Amino acid sequence: MEKRDAKMKALFSYAPYDNRLEETDIPSAGPGELVVKVLGCGICAGDVKSYHGGIRIWGTSLENRYIEAPVIGGHEFFGEVVEIGEGMDSYSLGEWVTAEQIAPCGECEFCRQGKYWMCQESAVYGFKQHIHGGFAEYIRLHKNSRIHKLPKSFTPEQAVLVEPIACGMHAVEMAEIGHDDTVVIAGLGAIGTSMVNLAGLYLPKQIIGIDVKPFRMEMGKKYGADYVLNPMECNVEEEIRKRTGGYGCDVYIEASGSPRSVTQGLQSLKNHGRYVQMGVFAEEVKADWNIIGDGKELSIRGSHLSALTFCSVIKGIESGLIKTEGLISHSFGLEQWEEAFEAAEKAPQAMKVMLRP
Ligand SMILES: [Zn+2]
Ligand SMILES: [Zn+2]
Repeated sequence: MEKRDAKMKALFSYAPYDNRLEETDIPSAGPGELVVKVLGCGICAGDVKSYHGGIRIWGTSLENRYIEAPVIGGHEFFGEVVEIGEGMDSYSLGEWVTAEQIAPCGECEFCRQGKYWMCQESAVYGFKQHIHGGFAEYIRLHKNSRIHKLPKSFTPEQAVLVEPIACGMHAVEMAEIGHDDTVVIAGLGAIGTSMVNLAGLYLPKQIIGIDVKPFRMEMGKKYGADYVLNPMECNVEEEIRKRTGGYGCDVYIEASGSPRSVTQGLQSLKNHGRYVQMGVFAEEVKADWNIIGDGKELSIRGSHLSALTFCSVIKGIESGLIKTEGLISHSFGLEQWEEAFEAAEKAPQAMKVMLRP
């Protein structure tokens, strides 16, 4: 590549509330690797939580810390191939690619069973120093990466949305939606709103969205929710019972990361209902565990990363079955990263915010 000795700008995370835009070497591609010029990288709720010192990322001490700081953040990236490592002949310069957020070890029990998204080492881009993230002008795709080619017909927004929508698709799969189901999706951010779309593809009886922000409630409706409820303005459990003949919903997908949404879900589900946890909490959650066993015999399911859904999401966006309009609400240059993080957290009309290095 032409700029082996050249420098690039990158946003490093050093510590909570300590991100620094710095110059660093442009990476080069070893065997099995690619170097990609980043054309866009989404800001995940996890990145914002990390900036605020989230415990899942920074731990309570150095021993249980997940993040290897300083590290370049960002795992929702795509870009153009600019350097091709040995053995990567199926790629060509200028092609658009993205990679899944996890770079699996390939050797642990889960990897050997093909469940690479549960890899014991759990190395996610932007959190470990061998896989610096996409908040930079260039990124090296590690040899363990799961790389996917993107059609050039995609807009940058669509390309950036592949990773978050893929995570949403996995959560929707975990819900095993049937045609007679009432599906509730709590939290209508970019992923929650997309999950309304994805759940709709199963043609269930009805979909109910929940959010406290009017703008997001409107998005939920546009994306196919039959009803949208605001827990600040109504009793959600009651409203759900009213629309289900007094039984409650069959499926509750928690995508808000708000502890209150957990109790709301357990209470809104009918007997034998399925609860899927997708959102990430900043704090510990308290709930009446009796509802799960003695009360309703509920299934509680977790959803982690994107589990084999990237190809389908790319195909779905290309065909138009998966909608993307309005899911990216803001776009900033790398230099405006502070504004971008602020918008992701606080802007009233924020869905997903992306950086364009
Ligand atoms: Zn993410
Ligand atoms: Zn592994």
